[in-house]
Amino acid sequence: MINFSTSIPIEHYQQLLRISLDLASTLDLNALLNRINYLAMELTDSEGSSILFYDESKRELTFAVTNDPQAEAMLMNVSMPLNSIAGQVAQTCQPVFVPDVSKDNRFCDRIDNLIQFSTRSIMAAPMIAKSKVIGVLEVRNKKEGQFNESDLDKLQILCAQAAVAIENSRLFQQFDLISNFVHELRTPLTALSTINALQQHEDISTEQRHEYTSLIQHEIQRLTDLSNDYLDIARMESGRLTLHPTRFSISKLINECCDMMMARAQEQNLVRRREIDPNLPEIEADRDKIKQVLINLINNGIKYNRPGGSITVKARVDGHVLRIDICDTGIGVPQEEIPNLGKRFFRASNVESTISGTGLGLCICRHIIESHQGQLSIESQLGTGSTFTIQLPIT
Ligand code: ADP
Repeated sequence: MINFSTSIPIEHYQQLLRISLDLASTLDLNALLNRINYLAMELTDSEGSSILFYDESKRELTFAVTNDPQAEAMLMNVSMPLNSIAGQVAQTCQPVFVPDVSKDNRFCDRIDNLIQFSTRSIMAAPMIAKSKVIGVLEVRNKKEGQFNESDLDKLQILCAQAAVAIENSRLFQQFDLISNFVHELRTPLTALSTINALQQHEDISTEQRHEYTSLIQHEIQRLTDLSNDYLDIARMESGRLTLHPTRFSISKLINECCDMMMARAQEQNLVRRREIDPNLPEIEADRDKIKQVLINLINNGIKYNRPGGSITVKARVDGHVLRIDICDTGIGVPQEEIPNLGKRFFRASNVESTISGTGLGLCICRHIIESHQGQLSIESQLGTGSTFTIQLPIT
């Protein structure tokens, strides 16, 4: 329940009603978060604003959106301590108003240092849906004068509207994902049921039995990959994909991934090359997630190749950046479709329907790389081949 400290003028009600309608009509979560963030700044006349998601089960508060895209790239998925101002809001469900952060020891200047911003004052309020705090909306530095009680009231009303809109958008995305998932399940399940029926015949040879067993394994793998992809997307879209960074040797990891994919490339008679600088530095990143990206891209380079083609994995340092190229001489992608690569469920029109896939892999890869403040770029020529390039900051 929101406790207002001021009576809200009628024109503010009208403005807030317009905002409510505006938010209710946006189902894309990212667009919605950016809109809420922009409205928070506009309503309170602030210099900066951020939305943080709160995961009550993990007691974790992470940045989801900020007003400055460069800062956002740095803060994406960064955790805020629970004894910070935002952390206190998430835990107590109460708004906080700090007119001078230099006099408040809950203020966490690590973020200011990271994004080179100078916070003077903060107002933060909880976003509550179904009696649970789902996040915190925080505005910084009033452009003129000081934040006042009326600003805090407006922020709280916006938070209430935002929480409902975010929940709606999440539900919609879950529904959309679930219906796609169920649709995707049908192919491997039909295949399994057909193989099962064929296996019932008494007169099948041992060779056929082996073939059916390997088909079953293939379909089970497909079901496992499907579930993993959908789970990753669901976590990503709800802001729950968290990184666990460690320091590790990237050259070892790339070689490990190449070794793992060797047999599959050999099956397709592909020429395999590695040009990995042995002196690559260690990097700080989530090893399992980077491994997932490398395997996905190498796997695509094999899957969308042609018999007798080649796949090359290169890695080198380029200035302050680690650059990994995965180049293939496969089917390529039509030029006009390249911008769509990495969008949820997108598969290029030149992919034969017999090649299995969900169109989620690249979307997950891009998200993982961007969460590491890196970049995934693609060059491709139809019928000639593609190069997928990962760039990661060396820290
Ligand atoms: P999937 O392979 O499951 O379809 P991805 O998200 O990994 O999904 O890839 C999306 C689409 O991008 C593929 O369906 C394909 O059209 C295209 N693609 C990805 N990698 C390559 C590649 N190496 N060569 C040609 N097309 C590719």
